[in-house]
Amino acid sequence: MSRINGFIGRRHLFNLAGMGSLGIVASMAGCSVSGNAKNAIASQAALADAVVTKRKPVSPDEALKLLLQGNQRFVQQKRKYPDQSLERIRLVAQAQYPFAAILGCADSRVPAEIVFDRGLGDLFVVRIAGNVASESAIGSLEYATNVLGSQVIVVLGHKRCGAVATALQDQPISGRMGLIVENIKPAVEKIKSTTDNLQVDAVVANIKYQAQRLQDNSTILAKLIRQNKLKIVSALYDLDTGAVSIIKT
Ligand SMILES: [Zn+2]
Repeated sequence: MSRINGFIGRRHLFNLAGMGSLGIVASMAGCSVSGNAKNAIASQAALADAVVTKRKPVSPDEALKLLLQGNQRFVQQKRKYPDQSLERIRLVAQAQYPFAAILGCADSRVPAEIVFDRGLGDLFVVRIAGNVASESAIGSLEYATNVLGSQVIVVLGHKRCGAVATALQDQPISGRMGLIVENIKPAVEKIKSTTDNLQVDAVVANIKYQAQRLQDNSTILAKLIRQNKLKIVSALYDLDTGAVSIIKT
């Protein structure tokens, strides 16, 4: 199997990268494939190859720099809206190589592509209330890093996070929301008695806790970190200014 940038190579990637493409190929394999269909598949593969040859590997530090530069443009209202052209749509339709992955809160005020001023195919974004490192979130991020080649994961929490605020209250939660809150409680319980700024410190503690859970609960992510192919970074989004700050761990 060929490898790109230390990760799984292009043919395998092409098969895995687009669920739509995979579905089409699989369904065609189940019946007789016409000449035209074969040609279509071959030309798609050729296009994917063309994209691969243009791919520029981005190190974890470079990936983080690109994100922070984009956030700076967003804060200063100097957005460039990169990678959103019709050409870009066609290019990434064949394969994706997102340079960064985000584990962010589902909060409607923190959309990753907007706050980092990025476009199609740039970010692999997993959003869930409280930026919780759930089993599904970890699986998605393993795919982003180990298969698609993202070299940084940013765990992005935000000020006044409703999920964290709920975890600070000792009240029963109805429905599946309780599952999310239970996954935040261990983070906030630790700091409850040691801070005089509970709302902000609880958010930060939760971001750090979920970042740690990613590597503690995934041998794949932990291995990529040991091999210097991945960094997991904690970051806080300021709802009032739009700025993203890196949290030192
Ligand atoms: Zn939130």
